[in-house]
Amino acid sequence: MSDKTAFQPPATIGILGGGQLGRMLALEARRCGYRVAIFTDEATGCPAGQIADWEVNARYDDTEALDSFLARVDVVTVEFENIPDACLSYVEARKPLRPGRNAVFTTQHREREKLFLRSQNIPCAPFQIVEDLAGLERAVAGLGRPCVVKTAAFGYDGKGQAKIGPESELADVWSGFEGHHAVVEQWVPFVMEVSVVGARAVDGSTATHGVVENIHDRHILDVTLAPARVTPAIEKQALALWESVAQGLQYVGTMAVEMFVTAEGKVLVNEIAPRPHNSGHYTIDACVTNQFQQQLRAVTGQKLGSPRQHSPAVMLNLLGEVWPSETRQPDWTPVLSHPEAKLHLYGKQLAKLRRKMGHITVLGATADAALAEARKLQGLLGSRTA
Ligand code: AMP
Repeated sequence: MSDKTAFQPPATIGILGGGQLGRMLALEARRCGYRVAIFTDEATGCPAGQIADWEVNARYDDTEALDSFLARVDVVTVEFENIPDACLSYVEARKPLRPGRNAVFTTQHREREKLFLRSQNIPCAPFQIVEDLAGLERAVAGLGRPCVVKTAAFGYDGKGQAKIGPESELADVWSGFEGHHAVVEQWVPFVMEVSVVGARAVDGSTATHGVVENIHDRHILDVTLAPARVTPAIEKQALALWESVAQGLQYVGTMAVEMFVTAEGKVLVNEIAPRPHNSGHYTIDACVTNQFQQQLRAVTGQKLGSPRQHSPAVMLNLLGEVWPSETRQPDWTPVLSHPEAKLHLYGKQLAKLRRKMGHITVLGATADAALAEARKLQGLLGSRTA
């Protein structure tokens, strides 16, 4: 079902997925007086479920559970992209699904995502799709080394990826991908990774937050600087790429596009996230309308708010390493008593290593000043693997 119906509080927003992105959307929605329902295959009490009015804990192919969920919600959105397609189709046939099934289906799978980018002439790293070792050999011969091979389905935070260097044995590399479709990409010697988070409303209007700079640590986002330290020309390219992706997908909701900036000043799309994004969390504390409020507005058929940033900011991710053990909380005093820092915790029970447990936003006169403060807080909190 795809229409332009608008919803006001106390309508019920149904969210597919139970993680922190659903939690932050639920917080925003409940503040406005909407009701929130979560459908997740996680156990009860998941990060989003803790905030929702009610949650359904069932498999995404459990149509009976989906029926009872859909009977009680007005509009549905997603908080992560790896929702089985049959579930997306089932939901879309019965309730407004924003973003629609096609946008999620395209972006949840690297092969479809890359082919979409190619079809729209949106610049990205040269790539080839491979299905077997012979295909990998042809792709590597064509693209050159170094390159990177990524599984087409269900990859995130660098999982399901392997770099192919000058010495790599392709048969060894392929053994990790056997039986899967994969995308082989030319290696991009980028000078910076940036992203743009924005929203597109049901009437096609858009509002983008500015270009932000992302620094990763072992494939997981460590800090985001907002704004990014880029030239106006780079900024213009990055914002234009976001618009092309959003229009191409006829997107409705909040969407992030991750990009590489090359030494020659070119911007290439790396990945699309059909949902709010970790690199947009700073908007909660630093923007007139944050990425979750925009998602809520787009999903409920309302006009978007101003994305204007009122202060430079840095977002620092808090991974499980910051907890002294899986179950013992750190002493949060340095953050809680800081005049320009905000603590966000996601309510996860076990602080596993590399798990995203929360984040800190630090405001400052400049992004560099905020980064220096964030690094100080990071040092004070410590790490159990340091
Ligand atoms: P992804 O899961 O595609 O977002 O990749 C995770 C990280 O791996 C990116 O944030 C980059 O740091 C790195 N990476 C991925 N693809 C490439 C590429 N083609 N060239 C260079 N670095 C890459």
